[in-house]
Amino acid sequence: MEYKIGFIGLGIMGKPMSKNLIKSGYHLTVWNRTASKMKELVDLGAKPASSPKEVAEKSDIVITMVTDSPDVEKVVLGPSGIIEGSMEGLIVIDMSTISPEITRRIAKKLEEKGVEMLDAPVTGGDVGAINATLSIMVGGKREVFEKCLPVFQAMGKKITYMGEHGMGQTTKLCNQVMVALNLQAVCEGLILGAKAGLDLNKLLEVVTAGAANSWALSNLGPKIIKGDLEPGFKLGMLQKDLRIVLSTAEELDLPLPVTALMHQMLRIAQADGYSEKGTQAMIKAMEKLSNYRINY
Ligand code: NAP
Repeated sequence: MEYKIGFIGLGIMGKPMSKNLIKSGYHLTVWNRTASKMKELVDLGAKPASSPKEVAEKSDIVITMVTDSPDVEKVVLGPSGIIEGSMEGLIVIDMSTISPEITRRIAKKLEEKGVEMLDAPVTGGDVGAINATLSIMVGGKREVFEKCLPVFQAMGKKITYMGEHGMGQTTKLCNQVMVALNLQAVCEGLILGAKAGLDLNKLLEVVTAGAANSWALSNLGPKIIKGDLEPGFKLGMLQKDLRIVLSTAEELDLPLPVTALMHQMLRIAQADGYSEKGTQAMIKAMEKLSNYRINY
């Protein structure tokens, strides 16, 4: 079946993901809070909507890619939200990174109206969104996942069913712990090299070829050296993700000591105004703490 797809949230991730759906031949209805961001998609053939409700009325599947849990709650359950325009059989796929607990709550509310939900957060960054190479981790009913698989395949490469509602988000939280701690490792390694007088480009060349390599090192290392702080993945988003990680760990009586410290490190960078910059701006917090600037 050729699904009519609705897409809500055309930010750094949502815009390229929706473009890839159009490229794969899907008919798209789009909505973004800041209406001007819809233009590029409309120029490619998408239909603009005036609210999430209207998106739902015109779609078989509605994808949301917004910031945080309250934002998903608002576009799904709020006034003029998806639920108001939904018919029985609609599928809502939330691809934002939000709380597993709130995901389960939203899924329950939708189920009462005969609407299915999948939580399907992603990893792979803006580059993965542009190249349709995202890794997508999915929670919800398996049969709904299987129905939506071709849609996921238009946006990603590694698509994995993780279990019931919330398990996609839970997987993403584990991912974010590793992403955050890798980021800090890159910042600390680079500032040590800089202060000790190494050529950072050479350092990067050597360590990316060995056991220290990671996504953070090979993608963010060059940006740190160049002084390019543009997002990618916003620092404030990672801080939001670790907040969700820590509250989930709290519910599980689980200590995550280094993650808790990293959460505070991100707060330091936020307090200095780097929330809307890429996560590589974490180097700025390290520069401040060490009273040393990497030369660029
Ligand atoms: P972004 O560029 O800041 O875009 C956020 C989008 O959400 C915008 O379209 C924004 O609308 C919309 N939005 C936020 N609050 C809203 C609300 N209350 N009502 C309606 N719309 C709202 O962020 P992004 O990088 O695309 O990230 C989106 C999600 O993907 C986040 O959950 C993030 O954690 C996750 N993620 C991001 C990356 C990455 O590398 N960037 C990777 C994996 C996962 P406006 O345009 O009006 O502001």
